[in-house]
Amino acid sequence: STTYQDQAVLVLGLGKSGFNAAKLLLKLGAIVTVNDGKEQEDNPQVAQLRELGATVITGSHPLALFERNFAYLFKNPGIRYDNPMVAEAIARKIPVLTEPELAYEVSEAQWVSVTGSNGKTTTTTLITLMLDENRTQGHAYAAGNIGIPLSAVAQKVTAADVMVTELSSFQLLGTTTVKPKIAVLTNIYEAHLDYHGSRANYVAAKMRLIQNQTADDFFVVNWDLPELRELSRQTKAQVVPFSRLGNSEAGAYVKDGQLCFKGEVIMPVTDINVPGDHNIENALAAIAAAKLMDQSNDAIIDVLTTFTGVKHRMQFVTSYEGRRFYNDSKATNMEATEVALKSFKQPIVLLAGGLDRGFTFEPLLPLLKEHVKAIILYGETKQLLAQTAREAGIPVIKIVDNLTKAVPEAYAASEAGDVVLLSPACASWDQFQTFEERGDVFIKAVEQITD
Ligand code: ADP
Repeated sequence: STTYQDQAVLVLGLGKSGFNAAKLLLKLGAIVTVNDGKEQEDNPQVAQLRELGATVITGSHPLALFERNFAYLFKNPGIRYDNPMVAEAIARKIPVLTEPELAYEVSEAQWVSVTGSNGKTTTTTLITLMLDENRTQGHAYAAGNIGIPLSAVAQKVTAADVMVTELSSFQLLGTTTVKPKIAVLTNIYEAHLDYHGSRANYVAAKMRLIQNQTADDFFVVNWDLPELRELSRQTKAQVVPFSRLGNSEAGAYVKDGQLCFKGEVIMPVTDINVPGDHNIENALAAIAAAKLMDQSNDAIIDVLTTFTGVKHRMQFVTSYEGRRFYNDSKATNMEATEVALKSFKQPIVLLAGGLDRGFTFEPLLPLLKEHVKAIILYGETKQLLAQTAREAGIPVIKIVDNLTKAVPEAYAASEAGDVVLLSPACASWDQFQTFEERGDVFIKAVEQITD
């Protein structure tokens, strides 16, 4: 690739993606300037990048840097478009790109790319496992929003490999040439309106995934959401629907309790090893992608019957004294918790709470009423959630300081046959660094009881 050779490029944000992008750009012969608003002189990555030849400026956003005539600005997806440096780049008509754009440019592998409001990581993982099974040549690699840097994977793959990339709407906004062989759109629900400004912008960001696709490519899309059926008219790619509700048999679908693809029966729905209707949808999306990549039914079946869930996403932790414990720490919003509650037929003892974003929890009321026998609350939102729990008439409502204290309370409120579920409906940042840390705290507290 010659696109970046001798080009002046500004990399904004020294996070994981910024650091990797800067290193890759240097390797590609670009003249790299890295800027982070936070003072970072002690960060060893700063020294490392300088050693490799980058100019690194941290602690402020000096607009004077633009005298370097940047050809591109690469930004961490978390940086907003109203950041002064980004705004300046836009005013100067400098393309504002994110890591997937760079990774796509250097990757020799085909891309299978997954986006959507929910189910991205699960679907990405399923597809990767399926495509990697019994492979005679190359490997399937997951990368992107799933927590594995795109540009690092992009540099090591060959034409025999497949990159299964999970792309967020934030990342997709900064892509211009990314053209996946298979694009998968799991669903679109309301989300991230604070960042995107409006639902229309959010949908438009997601649809950038298919902007460059042509008739040789495939667009795998959830046919049970009328809005997505409508949006699929925008693509030049071959549309391959998936439908749990049997709205189409042109792709992957459920019929008579079987998972099917274009008229062929693959396996019974009940053999999927992870619970919930949403996981049937994730399985269907993955089946469609795997079949389009010519993967065998055996490989697909093997993966779907053994997969125990992605960590922190309705992850089955253990069973003890007849209770089944699930870690759904990734449920950082109400929609995800609704999905989790719907997944179980057993009575649920729910642990919830976290960062207060100023929402009420009214929308959860019907599902709390239907599925939850006891609720243990902690974090900033505990009182707000308690209010909704009282309205729902949940018999046992306990409020505690933190998650570690919530687990024994949950166990005490449970009996054999119940599910004990961490599905917080809130972000973790009031008491934890990340949702992963929250999930690990939960697992540890569960082990205290079961060991
Ligand atoms: P993402 O990567 O998009 O955040 P994950 O696969 O990590 O999605 O799942 C996060 C949570 O979202 C899960 O724990 C579950 O509660 C919910 N979820 C997963 N798949 C779906 C789906 N297909 N539809 C709706 N909700 C889902």
